[in-house]
Amino acid sequence: MNKHIQSQTKQQYSSSFCEKDKTGWHATVLTLFPTMFPGPLGLSLAGKALNSGIWNLKTLDIRNFAPNKSRSVDDYPFGGGSGMVMRPDVVDTALEAVADRPGPRLYPSPRGAIFDQSWAKILAKEPGAVIFCGRYEGLDERVIKARKLKEVSIGDFVLSGGEPAALIIMDALIRLLPGVLRTTTALTEESFENGLLEYPLYTHPRNWNGIIVPEILTSGDHAKVKAWKRLEAESITRKRRPDLWKQYMKNKDK
Ligand code: SAM
Repeated sequence: MNKHIQSQTKQQYSSSFCEKDKTGWHATVLTLFPTMFPGPLGLSLAGKALNSGIWNLKTLDIRNFAPNKSRSVDDYPFGGGSGMVMRPDVVDTALEAVADRPGPRLYPSPRGAIFDQSWAKILAKEPGAVIFCGRYEGLDERVIKARKLKEVSIGDFVLSGGEPAALIIMDALIRLLPGVLRTTTALTEESFENGLLEYPLYTHPRNWNGIIVPEILTSGDHAKVKAWKRLEAESITRKRRPDLWKQYMKNKDK
């Protein structure tokens, strides 16, 4: 690669601001793969919200903070073991470069607390978040502690990198930002609101392959429909998620 292309590529990938930067919820993503962002969040509801400044995105290529010519960001683990570890000096310099960006410092990691709807709500109320996407076997423990990174897991499985986790976390909270959804009812009737999973949904045609929509939903009796929805939500939660059901019953008794 000639020098000109090299510098262009560096500029393009080092720090990409969206047009309406500095307005809305501030997402800052540190990654070895900046072109993964905004990815799916550039489309549909999140994409429209990005274009209208409800949230903004800054991505930085972690490799630009490597101290050496080879731009390596990882090294062998002390004590042996498989894979490589992200160097603390590189991670620290990259985080320092975004010191002015607001919000908690998150590190998606299978060791973290499990991300859920209540966490999404908390994050949506922050002015933004800085998300450090790990690769290889993860980050040197010292920089996790020194930078007080909050480890967040999207489930009990291992991804090859933090980027898909960052996209999931951002998707969940962006839809909670004011102005992203047309109605707030869409939020209050969803799974995990009131500690329950959502009731079954039906639309046209009323008769599909001989299967008829539950009559109550077309009765026009709003109170009965509301009660039906609650009963169905309770039933599905009890069957599918004993953990949520237990918590729901506990809260009901209070
Ligand atoms: N060695 C790590 C372990 O056993 O816990 C797994 C490292 S994984 C191959 C590489 C990166 O993917 C992690 O540093 C983290 O950023 C991300 N990652 C993997 N699984 C994840 C999960 N369930 N939730 C959030 N991030 C995850």
